[in-house]
Amino acid sequence: MNFLPLFHDLRGRRCVMVGGGEIALRKLRQLIAAGAAIEVIAPEISPSIRNLAPEQPLTLTCRKFEDSDLNGAVLVIAATNDTAVNRRVSELAQASNIAVNVVDSPELCSVIFPSIVDRSPIQIAISSAGTAPVLARMLRTRLESSMPAAYGKLAALAGKYREQVKHKIADGISRKAFWEDVFDGDIAELVYAEKISEAESRIQQKLSNPTSNKLGEVYLVGGGPGDPDLLTFRALRLMQKADIVLYDRLVSKEVLALVRRDAVLIYVGKTAGDHPVTQDNINEKLAEFALQGKRVLRLKGGDPFIFGRGGEEISHLAEQGIPFQVVPGITAASGCASYAGMPLTHRDFAQSVRFITGHLKENSLDLNWQDLVSPNQTLVFYMGLSGLESICRELIRHGKAPETPAALIEKGTTVNQRVFVGDLKTLPEMVRDANAKAPTLIIVGDVVKLHEKLSWFKQ
Ligand code: SAH
Repeated sequence: MNFLPLFHDLRGRRCVMVGGGEIALRKLRQLIAAGAAIEVIAPEISPSIRNLAPEQPLTLTCRKFEDSDLNGAVLVIAATNDTAVNRRVSELAQASNIAVNVVDSPELCSVIFPSIVDRSPIQIAISSAGTAPVLARMLRTRLESSMPAAYGKLAALAGKYREQVKHKIADGISRKAFWEDVFDGDIAELVYAEKISEAESRIQQKLSNPTSNKLGEVYLVGGGPGDPDLLTFRALRLMQKADIVLYDRLVSKEVLALVRRDAVLIYVGKTAGDHPVTQDNINEKLAEFALQGKRVLRLKGGDPFIFGRGGEEISHLAEQGIPFQVVPGITAASGCASYAGMPLTHRDFAQSVRFITGHLKENSLDLNWQDLVSPNQTLVFYMGLSGLESICRELIRHGKAPETPAALIEKGTTVNQRVFVGDLKTLPEMVRDANAKAPTLIIVGDVVKLHEKLSWFKQ
């Protein structure tokens, strides 16, 4: 570590700016924001700096720098285009242990300016120690876009109640949970929506009735089709918050790896024909853990409301008044279609798309075939691997051309993705020969032809 990051209290302190041009202006704005008492010294001072002066704590001194200018200063910045002056300022400052920054000359600096994300009182300072300022700025942009603008207000609110909360909740662990709840729950959401007084009454309410916080919550989260990059920000945030995780077979291990490290993981997967954990059992477990005050993550593959029985799980919770949130995920159809280059709708080929279960019941498929063979639509069959032959046969029998393009995508969006492209006549044999394994998705319709041109994901 070449530099120790410290946050400098400059309010009312003497700072000297040697230089009066555009570069000086940029730094001046930061010094002004920090409340410094600033003297600008330069033979020529630009109009834009002069314009700042009337309303700001700025003294403008129109002459060359003199050694005695540093007297009483805590920080000096040299922003002139005269290297001899810059060097002189640096030497003098360092000899008197005054913090000095010389613009664009790291070797003359004892302090450097970071890139700043300012959500005062929250501040993030980023530095590359002068090696890659562009990279530091890019990082700053990323952080800027992921932090709600009112983060600072949330921190200020916490500051206001800090002592009161400390007094009321003596136990450190409970206090931490209290604040986590404030920063991540409905109170934070109220602050982000600029409803500060409502947020305050919620804090007061929460403080006067701490036991009402005992009830946990269930997060029904869609984990997407496999690639962890396809998670939503919200899914990830709740995954990192959970105490207990109940997850399915379809949740990829890469996604599971992003769950909070010390969370308890419980596998409740079902494989075809083998149901070690019943749905009722899962419903009950979710309620039971939430009633114990736990944050329960119900993590599912894809989207919880698409062939995920998510509706049943939360309706059980709703009946008991247990709070829950539902986070959508990228469903297998969207994920596989994108990664295999087959747009589900397309102006020339398909004006609608259907998501259909291809799950066999007593070895047969009870579907409205007549409806499924109408033209200009894309059919997507979930859970259709063992029924693939029946699906293709029935579609042909009800009038689809045997040459209708059809594809099967195995383990879509993962590094093991395989795509088989044929038609209703050829696909079953192709898949059988390749010994494809679940999970697989079947896509039928003219959009399948686009695969050749639009495929981008390298397997
Ligand atoms: N809720 C899930 C679907 C659950 S049903 C979702 O929205 O995606 C399970 C079926 O989803 C599997 O039988 C398979 O047809 C499909 N599926 C899930 N993940 C898949 C993947 N990575 N590749 C191909 N199919 C997948």
